[in-house]
Amino acid sequence: MSSTSSPSPFTANLGYPRIGRHRELKFALEDFWRGSLAEADLLATAKTLRQQNWQLQKDAGLDVIPSNDFSFYDQVLDAMVLVGATPARFGSGPVTLARYFQMARNSNEQTAMEMTKWFDTNYHYLVPEWSDDLAFTPDTTKLLAEFAEAKELGVVTRPVLIGPITLLLLGKAVDNIDPLDLLPRLLATYRKVLGDLVEAGAEWVQIDEPALIIDLPAGYAEAFRAAYAEFSGIPLKLMLTTYFGGLGDNLELACSLGTAGLHIDAVRAPGQVAAVVGKLQPRQMLSLGCIDGRNIWIADLDALQKVIAPVIAKIGAERVQLAPSCSLLHVPYDTADEDKLDLRVRSWLSFAQQKVEELVQLAKGPEAAAEVFAENRHRHQDRLAAESSTNKAVRQRLTTLGDADFRRTSAYRKRVGVQREELGLPLLPTTTIGSFPQTQDIRKQRAAHKKGTISAAVYNDFLKQKTEECIRRQEEIGLDVLVHGEFERNDMVEYFGEHLAGFAFTSNGWVQSYGSRCVKPPIIYGDVSRARAITVEWSSYASSLTKRPMKGMLTGPITILQWSFVRNDIPEREVAWQLALALRDEVQDLEAAGIRIIQVDEPALREGLPLRRSDWPEYLDWSVKAFRLATSGVKDGTQIHTHMCYCQFEDILPSIAALDADVISMETARSRMEMLHAFKRHGYPNEIGPGIYDIHSPRVPAKEEMVGLLRLALDVLRPEQVWVNPDCGLKTRAWPETIEALTNLCQAAAEVRAGFAK
Ligand code: GLN
Ligand code: ZN
Repeated sequence: MSSTSSPSPFTANLGYPRIGRHRELKFALEDFWRGSLAEADLLATAKTLRQQNWQLQKDAGLDVIPSNDFSFYDQVLDAMVLVGATPARFGSGPVTLARYFQMARNSNEQTAMEMTKWFDTNYHYLVPEWSDDLAFTPDTTKLLAEFAEAKELGVVTRPVLIGPITLLLLGKAVDNIDPLDLLPRLLATYRKVLGDLVEAGAEWVQIDEPALIIDLPAGYAEAFRAAYAEFSGIPLKLMLTTYFGGLGDNLELACSLGTAGLHIDAVRAPGQVAAVVGKLQPRQMLSLGCIDGRNIWIADLDALQKVIAPVIAKIGAERVQLAPSCSLLHVPYDTADEDKLDLRVRSWLSFAQQKVEELVQLAKGPEAAAEVFAENRHRHQDRLAAESSTNKAVRQRLTTLGDADFRRTSAYRKRVGVQREELGLPLLPTTTIGSFPQTQDIRKQRAAHKKGTISAAVYNDFLKQKTEECIRRQEEIGLDVLVHGEFERNDMVEYFGEHLAGFAFTSNGWVQSYGSRCVKPPIIYGDVSRARAITVEWSSYASSLTKRPMKGMLTGPITILQWSFVRNDIPEREVAWQLALALRDEVQDLEAAGIRIIQVDEPALREGLPLRRSDWPEYLDWSVKAFRLATSGVKDGTQIHTHMCYCQFEDILPSIAALDADVISMETARSRMEMLHAFKRHGYPNEIGPGIYDIHSPRVPAKEEMVGLLRLALDVLRPEQVWVNPDCGLKTRAWPETIEALTNLCQAAAEVRAGFAK
């Protein structure tokens, strides 16, 4: 079809990772906050990182390179500064670096702005606070400085802005206003910002409106029309950029806003490409987000070629840009840094650097880049066919599952009687969520063991001693159900990944989570299976040290899935169920070893929710089944717990009930038990441990305070239904405050319990 002389489409990037290939920005920021790095040095580090990014994209041959994708902390905070909408409580006037970080981080003077997840990513942004007293005085310093900085390097960039409607939608109203009332003032500010960019010599701007892929609340479609009508007179080409999903019922809207270009996500929503092409306005540019910005697998260039060719045939290569589906912020830097990774697995991976190269080759096409296409074909086929990633027994087992594998033998009503009798727990039993303080000495020993400077035996003895101390302390405090403390775990997902087949780990695959914080997600590349028991030894050892019941601790299938890079060659549901089967065996092994209470944590269940409500039922169905598959293989007398820790559960309560865990513990301390009313309204039948101790701060709540919270819980729940526990794991706390707080917690439980005895 396409001959070698036919013109190529353009290539564009939407954003590059910024934390630094070796997390240079993280370390500079933390030194700066600590006071051991001068501001000038922090600025210099940042400048170097930006220049490296531009240079590398230029060298790769990208046509369109972004600027303003750098941030010292968060791009949403940058947008707030840009449009002059920073909360008044942080002062007024130009935002200095010191004030910028005050808004981002808690200090003695001020609580920082709230943070929440950026769509369905693991990136967290600072939530705009909409109120009537915002100044809306634009500050284009950073935006223009970065544009000029790149220009000096010979790169005329396409600056990135968060669009006004997405920005409004992401914020929360802090006084009684409707954020939409702020639209006129906000748009005036955006006009000024865009005007400044025109003056600076920008030709194109990338204006991010991912809000177009979610269900728009009332009034927001009109807001989009109003906003983009206002921008139409500005002599600047806007690339309206949507990502993380399909436009769905906003497709007409997105195509009708009169922007010079439209970027769509063709990875998550390949089906929308033809529809969008059909709706484009004459001469409108299409940016095809065809390289996955959310995952780390090499592209299938042949398959993509088949997506691109018809688009080019229809509108001409000069109107097409090839791009990643979203900013590359969500993937690590470079697979070349992974020298410890299995070479074969590494050849299947594509990080930011590789994705940029894929774009350039893809644009050249299968003839001009024949060798690259051939190599890609080879790798792709190797990945799909790899024997090492396939476990026939696991696949077989999945096909034989029947209803009974997803159901406990008896209903909770019957189980509860058996458990009461066998476990003999008091009313309002006390317990913790699993982890105990991960102190400096533990981290040191782990690092030494990893480096090989201490032997496995020495390390193991050390952990045993920590575990024993932890158990003695829990006994002294007077907790009813003990835990072993999780000292052997570096991280609740990584630990399980390291003990399961199908996982790979990078040494440098960091992705920014928020500010200077990064995570290094495990990679699930193959079928998941468990060669031998993972936690039984620790739980049994801990149990042997005490007469009190010991709770076994596992991370649930959905949480492992959510916090990993997951293979994309089989449905997620299948990966979740493979994980569930491995955990099911672990649960049963724990039971066989005499562990009668087993907690399967699912803090990430809610965050896996799809962005569109219409996609929720399917996700909730398979994820609830994954949990049930993992936990339902035990006897009536074995008590299954789960734990979740983000406050908004109301909208998924039926699914939480459907997990059919005997006990759920969760975060409620900060919301003063508000959430429990929803559980009551729903008629939640099983037991609940509403957290009465907020572990997110070193503050020790007094006994009276916890009695108060417990009484609030008992206003709503039946006493036999209630457990007493903190609202999350204690690993970030120190021992002294932990002992004090848990002692108060046990006394609070005793006091309230005594009231029932009378
Ligand atoms: N069991 C884990 C812990 O106590 C749970 C952590 C979590 O909810 N994120 O640390
Ligand atoms: Zn938690």
